[in-house]
Amino acid sequence: MNCPFLKETRVRSCAAAPVRMQIRNGLETMGLEKCSTPEYCECKAYRERAGAGAAADGTSCPFLEERLVQFCSEAPVTKFIPYSEASLSRCGSGGFEYCSLYLNFAQPGLTRMHSGDERDPVVDGVRVPRRLYYTPNHMWLDVRENGACHVGIDGLLARALKSLSEITFATMKGVRRPSAALTLDGITWPITFPNPMLISGANLYLRRHPERLTDDPYGEGWLFEGWEAPSAKVREGLLSGEQAAAWMSQEVQRLNEFVHGCTARCDAALGPLMNDGGVAVADLAGQLQREELLRLLNEFFAPHAAWAHT
Ligand code: SF4
Ligand code: SF4
Repeated sequence: MNCPFLKETRVRSCAAAPVRMQIRNGLETMGLEKCSTPEYCECKAYRERAGAGAAADGTSCPFLEERLVQFCSEAPVTKFIPYSEASLSRCGSGGFEYCSLYLNFAQPGLTRMHSGDERDPVVDGVRVPRRLYYTPNHMWLDVRENGACHVGIDGLLARALKSLSEITFATMKGVRRPSAALTLDGITWPITFPNPMLISGANLYLRRHPERLTDDPYGEGWLFEGWEAPSAKVREGLLSGEQAAAWMSQEVQRLNEFVHGCTARCDAALGPLMNDGGVAVADLAGQLQREELLRLLNEFFAPHAAWAHT
């Protein structure tokens, strides 16, 4: 599926020019261009390439090239994408849903943690998009029909880590398990997607704006993009659909029990960890003491985490 902002147009250029030069469409109808008329033989570039004595033998210049290209109608500077490349870019695949331009124009000002497909299950305020696959350490995978993949963290991890200060990407290219390190309150914690994929890039924008990871975990906060690798099963062992929603419900419950345990151990030193409804507060990590924070990360978000209660 193509991005709705991806448009197509005809681009004409002169193959005789030393540097590929685009010929603006519409000039021919204004009588300002000779390339597509029998008058092309008067063109200096044509005569130099074809020879001084060359005579016109057609209605348009043989050096006039025309191709169909695509371009982003929302980009401030128009950049043409050849048809053969569009399907490999996020514009020509489902990956457009992770493009900042698309998100800003299609859903201005919305935080997708709470918006999006209204049919998606929401568990205690945590959205569990149906189209995604989930890992036991609270990461998600979006894999499209053409094999395009995106990876990020889920809504529960995003809600717990609001005070994130830094993101470092450990893997950038190649068939690898996508890995990054999150820094919060002086602790740097590794997050690793359990299956290998062909990584083509990381969301480097998050280095300057780490808050985007937790504000919009299913949209602009994506971490890695790439492709399903032929040698690896990127979806292996992951949960989706109703199964994922049921697991998330158990995880929310498990998190609430963890928080009750923290409160019982050291309530004098902690701020409020539960909302009035008994649900763990946003930025739980920012409220915990160092030891409890490490326990939280280890029990819920460790790279080696296994499925709990499924
Ligand atoms: S007339 Fe032919 S050679 Fe001259 S600018 Fe047009 S395409 Fe190029
Ligand atoms: S750059 Fe973004 S908004 Fe523009 S066509 Fe591509 S995906 Fe769509």
